[in-house]
Amino acid sequence: MNTQSGPSLHSCLRQRWTHNGLNVYNLTIVIPHDFDIFLTHLDMPREAARGMNARNAFALLRASDALSCATLRKLAVQYIEMLWPSALHPCANPLFVTYVSTTHVEDSITVLTLARQYDIPGVLKAAYYHLLCTRSFWDRIYGPRKGTLGLPDADVTRLQDAQLQLGQAWACLLNSHPRKAPLCPKCQHDDSAADAWGRDVADWFDKDPDDYIGAVDDVVRLIEELRLERNWCDGCLDERVSVWKAAKELWWTGLDVSLQTDR
Ligand SMILES: [Zn+2]
Repeated sequence: MNTQSGPSLHSCLRQRWTHNGLNVYNLTIVIPHDFDIFLTHLDMPREAARGMNARNAFALLRASDALSCATLRKLAVQYIEMLWPSALHPCANPLFVTYVSTTHVEDSITVLTLARQYDIPGVLKAAYYHLLCTRSFWDRIYGPRKGTLGLPDADVTRLQDAQLQLGQAWACLLNSHPRKAPLCPKCQHDDSAADAWGRDVADWFDKDPDDYIGAVDDVVRLIEELRLERNWCDGCLDERVSVWKAAKELWWTGLDVSLQTDR
């Protein structure tokens, strides 16, 4: 164990007494549950690793940091970064949907707090985005039991701004037909391009998705299905697929600005 004594630990170690000839220390800087998890990782590292989950990792981080144990602190940070990966990208990470559907709102809120307190900035975006696209989070923010769930007002404002911007971008793109469409001689639709695109694509999404970025895949799938109907030419459909895929990248990158995770 690497025990580099920090100031808080040092002050605790000075408050000691003896019992049966042994030194006894009053570690007020660590809560009992966190200390219990810490000891389990010291005594039975393999068993503890098998039972690792987000909340145990939070406890291990708090205890190992307070006790200046760099080895277990690193382990806790690695586990939290694995669950809220900085490299999380809905375009490239096949685990994205699983991540969004299995992570608890309360845990992502805790991660936002711990990320700042213990300087783990890489997990911020994943935690923010999980909250942004989880309906139960917004139900708690706006619902009868209205409250911020312990989040600072600034975080709630960032999430509201990011959701608003994504919603506007989504609505704008959903109602945009292929650029070539009004004049395209290869496309065959009886009504205007805007009406035809609305009927074939936009009208299928009468409700905004919770996960705007993830829902891009649904739009692309629908556009691909239109190839079978031959109302739109391949060139026009290719153009829309390309625009939507680019938007997915752009929206994900743009979140760094609205959520302020690029600092
Ligand atoms: Zn066309």
